Amino acid sequence: MRLDAKIPAGPIAEKWDRHRFGLKLVNPANKRKYEIIVVGTGLAGGSASASLAELGYNVKTFCIQDSPRRAHSIAAQGGINASKNYQNDGDSDWRLFYDTVKGGDFRSREANVYRLAQLSGNIIDQCAAQGVPFAREYGGQLANRSFGGAQVSRTFYARGQTGQQLLLGAYSALSRQIAAGKVKMYPRREMLDVVVIDGQARGIVVRNLVTGEIEKYSADAVVLSTGGYANVFFLSTNAMASNVTATYRAYKKGAFFANPCFTQIHPTCIPVHGTYQSKLTLMSESLRNDGRVWVPEKPGDKRSPSQIPESERDYYLENKYPSFGNLVPRDVASRNAKEQCDMGKGVGETGLAVYLDFADAIKRDGRDVIAKKYGNLFQMYEKITAENPYESPMKIYPAVHYTMGGLWVDYNLMSTIDGLFVLGEANFSDHGANRLGASALMQGLADGYFIIPYTIGGYLAANTKKQVSTDHPAFKESADRIESGVKRLLSIKGKRTVDDFHRQLGNIMWEYCGMSRNDEGLKKARKLIQDLRGEFRENVLVPGSDKDFNQSLEKAGRVADFLEFGELMVIDALDRRESCGGHFNEGYQTDENEARRDDENFCHVSAWEYTGEGKEPELHKEPLVFENVKLTQRSYK
Ligand SMILES: Cc1cc2nc3c(=O)[nH]c(=O)nc-3n(C[C@H](O)[C@H](O)[C@H](O)COP(=O)(O)OP(=O)(O)OC[C@H]3O[C@@H](n4cnc5c(N)ncnc54)[C@H](O)[C@@H]3O)c2cc1C
Repeated sequence: MRLDAKIPAGPIAEKWDRHRFGLKLVNPANKRKYEIIVVGTGLAGGSASASLAELGYNVKTFCIQDSPRRAHSIAAQGGINASKNYQNDGDSDWRLFYDTVKGGDFRSREANVYRLAQLSGNIIDQCAAQGVPFAREYGGQLANRSFGGAQVSRTFYARGQTGQQLLLGAYSALSRQIAAGKVKMYPRREMLDVVVIDGQARGIVVRNLVTGEIEKYSADAVVLSTGGYANVFFLSTNAMASNVTATYRAYKKGAFFANPCFTQIHPTCIPVHGTYQSKLTLMSESLRNDGRVWVPEKPGDKRSPSQIPESERDYYLENKYPSFGNLVPRDVASRNAKEQCDMGKGVGETGLAVYLDFADAIKRDGRDVIAKKYGNLFQMYEKITAENPYESPMKIYPAVHYTMGGLWVDYNLMSTIDGLFVLGEANFSDHGANRLGASALMQGLADGYFIIPYTIGGYLAANTKKQVSTDHPAFKESADRIESGVKRLLSIKGKRTVDDFHRQLGNIMWEYCGMSRNDEGLKKARKLIQDLRGEFRENVLVPGSDKDFNQSLEKAGRVADFLEFGELMVIDALDRRESCGGHFNEGYQTDENEARRDDENFCHVSAWEYTGEGKEPELHKEPLVFENVKLTQRSYK
């Protein structure tokens, strides 16, 4: 199959306008005849459901949690990018586009990224109009701060709670449509299959997480906005319910999975403290605006930070990258932190931490100013570590945070299954091999508020409407398979808990497919995952019944999928014989230990096709063509 990204012709700045004009429209009176399923109520799904319903479509929206408001997006802290150029510091659509393509180490699609930059300003207008309480300057203008990989301030924020405030905005818009009867909301449902009839996505099968019932829903198109899969690593900054199940099961039905090995490791997280932990906590990148990263100059220096004089500290990011300093992109900052710790300069009990120090900023701006910007983050840090970051530096270490890989989509955000659209973190589209901070919220909301409302209309208008009901045998076949899968999990009655397997998988992924990788380790990981999956199928213990609220059963299904998907990540990492962004293969690095790309052989999206249980997936390549940005070795010096 040839992958057609359907990138419109013409100059990059005109592509989206021309494309929108070229898309067929659904007559307003006809929109009410269409049913659309949206899975997920984070920023991508919440905004898509509200926008599609506002247009007149009938929307059925599903989420795992008891309320759409509890989607993982609520956790986003630092901010959302937009090229408004309020600061007059040189920003523009072009600069946001360029920074994002460069930040992603030239592994994203130019046309998508330019569109994202173009739409970024609309998002801020939409959200401000909804009442999202963005921080403001003294004069009333919305305030901006800086994030990694950019030399302009373009990040809009609401203290350290930007995701929460944006989600409340999307949720309000969604609630309005629920009340108007245009959105039917199905909380506590887990999508376990997408139903494909005559090559088109025509519905989903879900498990009601309260009653255990398997339910079927049909539609004219399906939109997946089910978030990222960072929890394949067990420990991550993601919400506990974040998972790969929806996208992985769509993959098994024919949707290609793109760049699964592209994972983002965030440099500023609270370090791991012990084996009992099930969650890691992010300390927002915004803190690197004012916090200075350092380690003791001498390896093994165990003095407390206050006893180490300035002359014996190594502000390694500022020294090595004078142009960007502490605001280098996440992949660069993470690898450097690891490098310092590997040299024995790490701090804290485990030696797996570096300092993020606010002493200079507090001296310069005063404690009140710092508290106003980051107060809730400082409070969170103190609650977790019992250390006061106003008085001593935070200790931070990289942790798994985001996944750039996801289901392959074309310019319309449609997967390789007709009528199956994928939005937000669940798709692979805009961030290449490394996402810049504050760009995920921008992408999720661009997808939901401003792209899908056009492109889904184009799809529906171009296809003859065919009636399909849940009586179709494809729904029964899917429901039966799910039912027997659930029964099988419960019948194993082994000796190890689901979490125990998940933790072991996470260790394998972190050790061999984490911040840095090598061929030998990846091959080993593949075997270890296969063995672990074999053991899971014979020895997992899932207590309780399937006719009840049973979180062990929920988790077992998700971990079963992670155990298959982890292997796909490793296969992808092994195949990409270069280093780029978050994919750092030790065999491919420059003399200065930076990622060394191979543009001649790997300037493509790797899209994997499922070929059947136990069979090798098939690789398809979408070549990446750069007409507006010159491919260069990324440098932040
Ligand atoms: C701690 C933290 C801080 C962050 N801060 C920022 C930031 O400051 N700026 C930024 O740009 N990005 C940030 N990010 C990244 C950003 O928050 C996410 O990428 C983004 O919110 C993802 O949104 P989404 O709508 O795609 O998915 P999510 O918000 O993850 O929503 C997924 C939805 O899908 C549903 N779902 C999942 N699987 C199923 C299923 N099988 N069946 C039914 N429903 C399902 C869930 O119930 C949920 O409603 C942060 C991430 C973390 C972890």
